[in-house]
Amino acid sequence: MSNIKLSTCCSCGFQWPTSQHGEHSCSSYLRAENANLKIEIAELKTENKKERDYSDFLESSAENFLAAREALRKKVGELKADRSRLNYLDKLNTEFNERNGTQYGWKIDWNHNRIALIDSCPMQRTVREAIDEQAMKRSKPHDNS
Ligand SMILES: [Zn+2]
Repeated sequence: MSNIKLSTCCSCGFQWPTSQHGEHSCSSYLRAENANLKIEIAELKTENKKERDYSDFLESSAENFLAAREALRKKVGELKADRSRLNYLDKLNTEFNERNGTQYGWKIDWNHNRIALIDSCPMQRTVREAIDEQAMKRSKPHDNS
């Protein structure tokens, strides 16, 4: 560290050791300062743009997240409604069996005239099991029954 005392130009801020002559051109010094400031401004603009881009990214991410959550909520609502429908059929079947002292379950009955969901199958399947059973039969080749 030096203890050299510095003088400063009141007009442009140029500094020189006080014991020496401080001859300079304020305008050339200011031109260099101006160029440096322009570079700094460009850097700050770039930095600002990056931050704005990131902010936009966060905002659109949040919007996408909300949209995905809404779609999921709707889907869950649909699934719950389907579950209620299937549960309702099993409830009907249970009530029917209790009323009639029977032990029947569901079956999908497929013949050349029609496809029917019947509730008088002795296999005592739930409606889900009956659907799964039919889907499994259908997935096997050469078997439409
Ligand atoms: Zn000066």
